[in-house]
Amino acid sequence: MTNAEITPAPNFIRAIVEEDIKTGKWDGRVVTRFPPEPNGYLHIGHAKSICLNFGIALEYGGTCHLRFDDTNPTKEEAEYVQSIQEDVRWLGFDWGANIFYASDYFEQLYECAVRLIKKGKAYVCDLSPDQMREYRGTLTKPGKESPYRNRSAEENLDLFSRMRAGEFPDGSRVLRARIDMASGNINMRDPVMYRILRAHHHRTGDKWCIYPLYDFTHCVSDSLERITHSICTLEFEDHRPLYDWFLDELEVYHPQQIEFARLNLTYTVMSKRKLVELVDAGHVRGWDDPRMPTISGMRRRGYSPESIRRFCEVIGVAKRNSTVDAALLEHCVREDLNRKAPRVMSVLRPLRVVLVNYPENREEELEAINNPEDPAMGTRRVPFSRVIYIERDDFREDPPKQFYRLAPGREVRLRYAYYIKCVGVVKDEKSNEVIELHCTYDPETRGGSSPDGRKVKATLHWVSAAHALQAEVRLYESLFLTPTPGEQKGGDFKADINPNSLVVLNSCRVEPGLADAAPGDSYQFERQGYFCVDPDSSPTRLVFNRTATLRDTWAKIEKGLQRS
Ligand code: ATP
Ligand code: MG
Repeated sequence: MTNAEITPAPNFIRAIVEEDIKTGKWDGRVVTRFPPEPNGYLHIGHAKSICLNFGIALEYGGTCHLRFDDTNPTKEEAEYVQSIQEDVRWLGFDWGANIFYASDYFEQLYECAVRLIKKGKAYVCDLSPDQMREYRGTLTKPGKESPYRNRSAEENLDLFSRMRAGEFPDGSRVLRARIDMASGNINMRDPVMYRILRAHHHRTGDKWCIYPLYDFTHCVSDSLERITHSICTLEFEDHRPLYDWFLDELEVYHPQQIEFARLNLTYTVMSKRKLVELVDAGHVRGWDDPRMPTISGMRRRGYSPESIRRFCEVIGVAKRNSTVDAALLEHCVREDLNRKAPRVMSVLRPLRVVLVNYPENREEELEAINNPEDPAMGTRRVPFSRVIYIERDDFREDPPKQFYRLAPGREVRLRYAYYIKCVGVVKDEKSNEVIELHCTYDPETRGGSSPDGRKVKATLHWVSAAHALQAEVRLYESLFLTPTPGEQKGGDFKADINPNSLVVLNSCRVEPGLADAAPGDSYQFERQGYFCVDPDSSPTRLVFNRTATLRDTWAKIEKGLQRS
């Protein structure tokens, strides 16, 4: 993908906003909002909505509100309210003073409901939930009117105030909008506006025992905040007539609802219900587990906010649902890290190598380049001595064809150091496993090139045994084995969990220069991939997460497309 292809593309929502600015529809104002329900941590799908809503506000000199849609007291927690704010800020967006809670509007919502009752547009209904379902009808069968539909406004006002006062048991009555039981749109068949529920609310405590439902709350909240463009996902398209009906009947300020396609990603699940399940059942270590599609998981994994914003731009905004290849997200992450991450050497599965002709007590420092993509990042000095570690995979006693790395009698280059040649193999007597190599080094090849022009076919990374730091490295793969988890398993997404999504390596060795690495710092471990320091890390025990391997499958797909 070239840079030109990923500059912010015009989309139909930007087109609407620009048109509205031109015609002065909202007096030139642009006010959007991001309205999460605090019932889980934010995920990459939310990031798309955040980038869109905050992005549009930024581009057109408007504001974007952060509004907690907290009308469901049983599933909501203060922990989620905190994490959501942290994640939006980390992504790089600022709501300024515009932080709101739907629960702050409970009193106003109640008044709006009373107004609708007085207009004959809402009524208290005593049908049981089962009866309500039966009366609602289906897509092909019209609904039936509730026997309580024609209660007088006086009776409804009285009953509604007594619902609020706590005179009736949970679930015994609801307040419904009085619209049209024969409507082709089921959302318009007298939808429920309020339910009785004795549950403690994270902000209003036990003040309320009736709670407004989403469809009623959302449009009124948008109206109170004088939102101009209420951007939501496609599944709310069928709710738009209801959004408009409430505001028209209330005769209040009326924003425009606009729907766009939600983000779906391969090899992951995104619904909060499923994410809660993964956390609660212990399939992951928590909401911020680096395998989670949550923003906090991606942060811990080493994804930068820039790469996530970039991804959200690249995927664009459309009116049709589709699924994005997870490889594209990783591609954006690699592109960003390739530019920013310093290169270091780290041996994940160490094999001890003794350089038999290197003097016992000598050590020296060799110069290494920090980032070939960015000369301004300079160089560093890496210690070298008689005993080093190389990657176990880089040696084969009996090398197959195409294996050009180290083998008995063969010479390779140690990156930034010397040519070495394998002259001996030490094995464990019992297991016959190779435990040490003996090599000679060529002092004439310091820096990694031979004055006589002698060529070697492989360059290996290494660390000096006496100087290297011990580290734990956590290797991640996708949490699921199939592109659409659960699809072939009757929806049981947990049946597709990848048992190898986490592999922990305990005896890795990294360059001593990483002693001061702080949680969140990212590096490219040469030939291994991108890694970042985990919050579990301490000065005595470094812990790294693999952010991504170096294999960019998306770039390969792109190249294939260009060729064909
Ligand atoms: P989930 O289905 O994952 O529980 P939700 O829509 O119930 O998500 P909310 O907290 O209500 O979660 O979402 C807040 C905002 O984020 C909404 O405007 C919603 O449309 C948007 N959003 C949620 N998931 C996605 C997604 N996958 N792609 C784009 N926008 C999303
Ligand atoms: Mg929701």
